[in-house]
Amino acid sequence: MPEPSPDLMDKVVNLTKRRGFVFPASEIYGGFRSTYDYGPLGVLLKRNVMEAWWRSMVQLRDDIVGLDSAILMTPKVWEASGHLATFTDPLVDCRKCKERWREDQIEGVCPNCGSTDLTEARPFNLMFKTFVGPVEDEGSVAYLRPETAQGIFVNFMNVLQTSRKKPPFGIAQQGKSFRNEITPGNFIFRTREFEQMEMEFFVPPDEGPKWFEYWCQERLRWYIDLGIPEDLLRMRQHDAEELSHYSSGTADVEFLFPFGWGELEGVANRGDYDLTQHAKFSGERLEYFDQASGERYVPHVIEPAAGVGRSMMAFLLAAYDEDVVNDETRTVLRLHPRLAPYKVAVLPLSKKDTLTPTAREVLSILQPHFSTDYDETQAIGRRYRRQDEIGTPYCVTIDFETLEDRAVTVRDRDSLEQDRISIDKVVDYLKERLP
Ligand code: ATP
Repeated sequence: MPEPSPDLMDKVVNLTKRRGFVFPASEIYGGFRSTYDYGPLGVLLKRNVMEAWWRSMVQLRDDIVGLDSAILMTPKVWEASGHLATFTDPLVDCRKCKERWREDQIEGVCPNCGSTDLTEARPFNLMFKTFVGPVEDEGSVAYLRPETAQGIFVNFMNVLQTSRKKPPFGIAQQGKSFRNEITPGNFIFRTREFEQMEMEFFVPPDEGPKWFEYWCQERLRWYIDLGIPEDLLRMRQHDAEELSHYSSGTADVEFLFPFGWGELEGVANRGDYDLTQHAKFSGERLEYFDQASGERYVPHVIEPAAGVGRSMMAFLLAAYDEDVVNDETRTVLRLHPRLAPYKVAVLPLSKKDTLTPTAREVLSILQPHFSTDYDETQAIGRRYRRQDEIGTPYCVTIDFETLEDRAVTVRDRDSLEQDRISIDKVVDYLKERLP
């Protein structure tokens, strides 16, 4: 098993702060309870992660369609889904220092003061409660969704009838979810507000186990294809007592974080639990009717449910590297080009007025095709290192010769090779190399 480097976490957290990937939220007020904001580079990385997921789950398939459902839903949804009754964590209080913990995370000892004098565990519901409308009474209570999945189940018939899909088919959704976690932490690994990427795959009941296996493999492969080394990933099957109230089988895709193995994504066989519950509580029929065979059934559901923040963290940790170039240590994020915030940076060799118009011309040629950075201050070596540190796969340098030969130097982040390319060929050159 590979050993995670103990200081890797600090290095990556520092880099993300220093270079504008992730900021503590409400920072000028001292921060706010494990919430984070994504800065100029973070928002690009986050969008790229979500886009890569959407591309593999929706765009490249003809059996999955998308959805964007509301965060606020009628509380009946959470009654039917079981979240009101069972979406709880066991909460214990330390009698000595009064801190609260999740019983299953602390093994009987308060991590704050070391005391073993803890209260009995009691269930704590993780849903955020709020009120809708001007009256704050029981009748106006609503919950912020703790997962995006239920928005998919309640739209099952709408999508089935309008998309002309039939099982096996899936509905994919990305969006914010909220959980009032008792102990958030480990940077963006566990936060109270987070983004999910979930897909519900509806299959004929006897095909559940087959599709469960299929999605476990597919989802593991997604992380590997985007550059996470295989030995930092594993699939872990849940044992019986760990299974959620709805699941007949769950396996987690786990990543070896510096603090140990942690879940990136859960793949669950939810059976017909959700559709059956919503049919019961809503009084609507939530079934598939096969006109050809005259068969009617409630599909079973296989769900791969991933988190955006956790995946981002894994991609950053796996990409972080230090090597020596010209006797100097450089930090380089070897991010997959699809995930890199900028694909290319335009760097005029000097800030001289003579180079600026051509450099800006190259910038405007590249911008419609690639997310492009422009940087003209400081020595060129320094600027290369700044781009390496944020994972930019290619730098395009404009020098004085460019004014004569209309060609630029393209530098590769990983091989450090440099090619001289004519300005009218540079888009094609980069397109061939960037997926
Ligand atoms: P955990 O056991 O870590 O609390 P979970 O098993 O409850 O997670 P799921 O309900 O399966 O998580 O949610 C699917 C995915 O959503 C998780 O794999 C994770 O990537 C993401 N996720 C869940 N809770 C959080 C959170 N509090 N912060 C960030 N991401 C989260």
